[in-house]
Amino acid sequence: MKSKMKDEMLRLMRDPNLLPSEKQTLLSDIAAQAAAMDMPCYVVGGFVRDLLLGKPINDLDVIVEGDAIKLGEALVKKHGGKLTPHTKFRTAIWHLPSSFIIHPSSLDLITARKETYLMPGALPTVTPSTIEDDLRRRDFTINSMAIRIDGDHFGELLDPLNGQADLAEGLIRVLHPHSFIDDPTRIFRAIRYAARYSFIFHPSTANLINSESMDVIPRLSGQRIRHELDLFFEEENSAQMILRAGEFGLFEKIHPSLPLFNPDYSDFLEMDSTLDIPTSKTEMGYMLWLMDLLEDQIMSIGQRLYFTSDLTYSVWAVSQLKKSLPFLVGATPSVWTYALEKLPLLSIYVVYLVSREDALLDFLSIWRHVKPHTTGDDLKARGLQPGPRFGEILSQLRAAWLDGEVTNDTQEKELLSKIL
Ligand code: ATP
Ligand code: MG
Repeated sequence: MKSKMKDEMLRLMRDPNLLPSEKQTLLSDIAAQAAAMDMPCYVVGGFVRDLLLGKPINDLDVIVEGDAIKLGEALVKKHGGKLTPHTKFRTAIWHLPSSFIIHPSSLDLITARKETYLMPGALPTVTPSTIEDDLRRRDFTINSMAIRIDGDHFGELLDPLNGQADLAEGLIRVLHPHSFIDDPTRIFRAIRYAARYSFIFHPSTANLINSESMDVIPRLSGQRIRHELDLFFEEENSAQMILRAGEFGLFEKIHPSLPLFNPDYSDFLEMDSTLDIPTSKTEMGYMLWLMDLLEDQIMSIGQRLYFTSDLTYSVWAVSQLKKSLPFLVGATPSVWTYALEKLPLLSIYVVYLVSREDALLDFLSIWRHVKPHTTGDDLKARGLQPGPRFGEILSQLRAAWLDGEVTNDTQEKELLSKIL
């Protein structure tokens, strides 16, 4: 029975559709090194979960019972690359040598550890321990399985918390009743996995999302909450996640002005812009979520969630533009362009999505690229001294092109002569 399971694990781990052959090679190199050093070595977490679900593996999380930094140093010595050790937690990041063509190009080597939470919502204290203890510090049963990879043990599944059964039934279940109180970011993680895999919460876990655990949310740092929200927006089902988080009442615990996400905007979260503007799903997420707030609310939420000043500015720009639209409708292309030119392109695009105002699309696809043929050099050749007047003349010419008053070179030259 046990060996049948192992055969199945071996089959999955050798399936190039789940684990590309470069990653398989990397794993066996690590496994060989760990075996040579007598360190039991495992892949854990999302790796095992996604493998058992038959989904492609994203990142490799490697755990050893032993010193992960020593393992890392040996790997660097043998294969190259660079190591960033964290002596406090005995973990290391191995920046892979270019001989491994792998994304991401680094991987975490972790010493199996035990965690103790001294204060709800704060980061835990960590001590080296066994793989079993390491699995017990994790968030959900489906994330608390390991596969051993060193030597003859390659392919052995460790599942002390019955993650396999919950995976088969589609259940998100925490490991103990204090889990969400220790770390309420797990509430966000639970919502994310439930929506990603169409799983449901085990009733006992659902009951633990209550006032006691939610009251710890205000103590979470802005960075940690932002990280979880960013992860929502990076997912395919992000609308479902952000709506669900709102239904649970998480937002008022983060910031009193943080609104529910407007379900009318759900589809826009998945919109791929066909325009040549840089898009970011997370940035768009925050813009859609916060655009109807007042200026001071946006600033205050931006501070709580540790927004970069770019992000705060982009969200603010969306709110301002949306409010000014009624005054701009019907304006000439040059007036639109003047109003839009200084705003982030993505902010304009988001306002287009929710308003369907054609001028915004015209600006993004056509108007912003319109330039007069005349250059600063031409003006100098006509005997003008460089100065602010240069810019004024050029924008006057540009406005004439935008508004169709000038449609060819000759007309532009005539207008220039008139201005001069
Ligand atoms: P994803 O596909 O979302 O990356 P993952 O399982 O790889 O899923 P990570 O956030 O990369 O998730 O974390 C790796 C593993 O670390 C998880 O599988 C889980 O076992 C553990 N883990 C992560 N965050 C927590 C947490 N807040 N509390 C407990 N365990 C956690
Ligand atoms: Mg991961």
